[in-house]
Amino acid sequence: ATPMALMVGTGRGAQLGILIKGPEVLENTRRVDTVVLDKTGTVTTGRMALTGVAVTEGEDEEEVLRLAGALENASEHPIARAVASGAAARVGALPVPEDFANIEGLGVQGVVDGRAVLVGRVALLEEWSQALPADLSRALEAARAEGRTAVAVGWDGRARGVLVVADTVKPTSAEAVRQFRELGLTPILLTGDNEAVARSVAAEVGIDEIFSEVMPADKVDVVTRLQAEGRTVAMVGDGVNDAAALAQADLGLSMGTGTDVAIEASDLTLVRGDLRAAADAVRLSRRTLTTIK
Ligand code: ADP
Ligand code: MG
Repeated sequence: ATPMALMVGTGRGAQLGILIKGPEVLENTRRVDTVVLDKTGTVTTGRMALTGVAVTEGEDEEEVLRLAGALENASEHPIARAVASGAAARVGALPVPEDFANIEGLGVQGVVDGRAVLVGRVALLEEWSQALPADLSRALEAARAEGRTAVAVGWDGRARGVLVVADTVKPTSAEAVRQFRELGLTPILLTGDNEAVARSVAAEVGIDEIFSEVMPADKVDVVTRLQAEGRTVAMVGDGVNDAAALAQADLGLSMGTGTDVAIEASDLTLVRGDLRAAADAVRLSRRTLTTIK
């Protein structure tokens, strides 16, 4: 490929809302046969809303919302934004945590009003010996059966409640997946979220293959494994947790609406966060590289 033709390709990319890191990127784009899609913030808007609260026997709903909301107020995660604003709407001003830590791919932990609070995956609470009581397990399963994301809340050695948040699939995602298939690419959904939620989102956009409950550090392994099968992999993601996988992929695509870390780790940025631009990029690279043959 001649540098001049590739420059033309990158210029056209900018018009389509695609930022390409260097002209050589188009070569990799053309060879891709598999597109791995992060779920939250990539296939979905990542704008979640709090849709439900369940508490265990004897626990107070407002207290669960106050403590969980206070802790999540310190996090940028889409689930955290939903919990914090939903909680504030219901209980008013939230206390400021005395201590806070984000546990990538699992949740948050910290101290609120002198209590050691956890919000996140059941696995996070279990690490601290806070198994879910039967009533909360039922609430969690019911939410997941509806394809919603549910996180658990616990403090001082006990699981106390379950918070349900719902995300929405971007209106353009299903069309993008259809275009990937038309281009001969196999779409795969990759998420840290649970299997039922992953299945429901996958079904909504037309994806058959999913990897769910994948820890951030293991997302990169999924890409490596697909490459070991002989596939040429494009990975599309938006989060800090996607950065390693974006760097490992033959082609890393980030959402312009995502984190700086993801954008830096990628070869190509979809400025408007519209997945259809990924299909445009593939078409553009094929056309550019055909023209110059
Ligand atoms: P994805 O891979 O879909 O972008 P993440 O890897 O960011 O999702 O998170 C995986 C899971 O970890 C979430 O579905 C949620 O259960 C839990 N989690 C992560 N961060 C938080 C948080 N701030 N509050 C509650 N739960 C969280
Ligand atoms: Mg994400």
